[in-house]
Amino acid sequence: METTKTEHAVESGITPGGTTGAFRDVLAKDHARRGKPPIHFTDMTPDERIEVAKEMGLPKFRVKQLANHYYGHFDTEAAQFTDFPATARQAAQDLFFPTLISEVTRQVADDGQTVKTLWSLFDGSKIESVLMRYPNRTTLCISSQVGCGMGCPFCATGKLGLTRNMSTGEILEQVRIAARMMSRGEVAGGPGRLSNIVFMGMGEPMGNYRSIMSAVRQISAMPPEGFGISARNITVSTVGVVPGIRKLAQEGIPVRLAVSLHAPNNDLRDELVPMNKRFNVEQVLDAAHDYYLASKRRVSIEYALMRGINDQAEHARLLAKKLNHYGDNWAHVNPIPLNPIEGSKWTASKPEDEQRFLEILNNAGVTATLRDTRGQDIDGACGQLAAKTTERA
Ligand code: SF4
Repeated sequence: METTKTEHAVESGITPGGTTGAFRDVLAKDHARRGKPPIHFTDMTPDERIEVAKEMGLPKFRVKQLANHYYGHFDTEAAQFTDFPATARQAAQDLFFPTLISEVTRQVADDGQTVKTLWSLFDGSKIESVLMRYPNRTTLCISSQVGCGMGCPFCATGKLGLTRNMSTGEILEQVRIAARMMSRGEVAGGPGRLSNIVFMGMGEPMGNYRSIMSAVRQISAMPPEGFGISARNITVSTVGVVPGIRKLAQEGIPVRLAVSLHAPNNDLRDELVPMNKRFNVEQVLDAAHDYYLASKRRVSIEYALMRGINDQAEHARLLAKKLNHYGDNWAHVNPIPLNPIEGSKWTASKPEDEQRFLEILNNAGVTATLRDTRGQDIDGACGQLAAKTTERA
């Protein structure tokens, strides 16, 4: 198959930006030994798929059949594709649907309605995803990078450093498998539909922009081009990579933006989110508000409440002031009780401080709801399961 390097190259794992200072990537020790994931159906352009099929001696409509199996029925077992020529099934399996993610462990909580899966990738890297079923929706939280280079000191994933970016196929396989689990009734509550996707697992999505955007397009397109999950039900989070937010605003895809702010002033945020030294609170909020204007989607402001650090009345008041500076009703604050890493100095807020934080925001006219802490009893905070397994390895 003839393919160009740029079309298929899985990005290096070095996110764009400086190599020194706050935006320095924290690469894991063994990153240089890792190769690229096998190319998958979802990593190919429509023309490339047709080209591969042609080399197998198959006409164009066969590609559409494969797309139907993949996006419409969440199926990659070509051996079972009875509408496909028996002699071509194995080759189709190998060339279009190599195994990209394999389940290592699965933890279940909330009466079976929260399922957290640890996956192993082709190179032994570990990532995770969490499926959360609610009465009116089912949300999957997915990873976009192996580890994360943003270095937030309170975060388990941050401690791992960045190993590499994930390919579009690796990102989408998390979605396909969860959608299949729902449709087959493998999650407590019977058969249902995966309805929401949040890019809030391991990694900084803006650090892997090209792959996550390709994934967003394939999640939101209708079958047989994609899974048919509305872009309005997709959330892309960022720790505040301003160029990424601005680029996303230009895409014209109405995904929700979630910004992990965690502090209302620069001194504190410099400490909690090292990226702040590169893009500070004001720059991040300017970009987030511009995203709201461009997309007409309310921006989520994520705020992990840490006891005695960023959860006091003064922090809530300053946060309200900074958000109200841009006008009413453009942002929704999600304070999240921190799920602490074992042995770290960062701990969860006292319930009374959480309540006061919420009240101050609400009284100032800023909508805020304490984010659901689904899966806390299975280490639901981002990166924790993978971090533990890696430590043991
Ligand atoms: S909090 Fe988010 S951005 Fe910061 S290190 Fe953890 S995964 Fe990365």
